[in-house]
Amino acid sequence: MPENLKKISRNLSDISTWLKFDRIPWVIAGPCSAESEQQVLSTARELAKSPHVKVFRAGLWKPRTRPNSFEGVGEVGLKWLRAVKAETSLPTTTEVANARHIELCLDNDVDILWIGARTTVNPFMVQEIANALKGVDVLVLVKNPINAELGLWLGAIERLYQAGIKKIAAIHRGFSTFVEMEYRNSPNWRIPIELKRLLPNLPIICDPSHIGGSRDYIEPISQTALDLGIEGLMIETHIDPDSALSDSKQQITPKVLIELLDRLRARNTTITDKQVKAKVARLRTEISHVDSRIMQDLAERFRWVEEIGKLKQQHSISVLQINRWENLLKDHIAKAKHLDLDGEFIKAVFELIHAQAVKRQLQD
Ligand code: PEP
Ligand code: MN
Repeated sequence: MPENLKKISRNLSDISTWLKFDRIPWVIAGPCSAESEQQVLSTARELAKSPHVKVFRAGLWKPRTRPNSFEGVGEVGLKWLRAVKAETSLPTTTEVANARHIELCLDNDVDILWIGARTTVNPFMVQEIANALKGVDVLVLVKNPINAELGLWLGAIERLYQAGIKKIAAIHRGFSTFVEMEYRNSPNWRIPIELKRLLPNLPIICDPSHIGGSRDYIEPISQTALDLGIEGLMIETHIDPDSALSDSKQQITPKVLIELLDRLRARNTTITDKQVKAKVARLRTEISHVDSRIMQDLAERFRWVEEIGKLKQQHSISVLQINRWENLLKDHIAKAKHLDLDGEFIKAVFELIHAQAVKRQLQD
């Protein structure tokens, strides 16, 4: 792990010192957008009944893809967030995208700021936000960038850290893709997992509303997040979702949210039971044995590849033999089926292996 990231991870402040978490999952809930005082307050009143809900969210400045759609109520909504806090005691959060938003939020006691996916992609905007936050003790949530690039996500966290912010958490809201799929944004779980590996102390919150883009997917995505050890969720909740001015299809009522949260199964991130611990250790040993075998087999495969590379060179044969590659891939995908392995997965594995084999032969 790079030294600078290790240091950042060590210096991040513990999330349980900022907010009281006595439940898993703990939840940030509220509408995609604040629309009226009545909508904000009636949603918050219902949400405050759930012991899971720890923070109230509502977007005031909405980054919309096209102009002339609802772009948020802006400044006037700050009063409504104050009213929520006064009445329910829930801390509040909203999206900020520039220095002016930050100034207004800090003047109006917004407790937590979040940086949206369309802002995390832009280092200029993130730096402007970081500069505006210098010397301020506030909690900042960083949504992943729209595209699946870990570097931009990490970069935004580093910019905030360098501005002196120690209370940081990341929100995983999925990545946009050109491929047709059931979800609005692809979860690409390996990216938040890699972020957690690089910054182990950084809390990660999952936003199933923006990943799924539909009410139906909120529960299964939330459960997957919990199964992966994620303890915080951000879920869009509206008192009347069908009439919401933004993200209507993915919002649920507070009542539906509360029932859903009761059904989710929390997981322990640490193993305490001694017998279970021993069993897990035994299985991990088996898995590590298989991993070493795979590595030894790969090393052997590349020794043969180097031999064949030399032979091709001696006889002036091109390194890439496209028919051989095509047949090999077909065979392996067919075999994968019999072994109960996912064909797409085996294809991806052998694409990597083949690329490495070609590279080795070109180096010879
Ligand atoms: C939102 O939370 O309403 C929002 C705009 O999210 P994102 O930045 O993830 O699209
Ligand atoms: Mn939204």
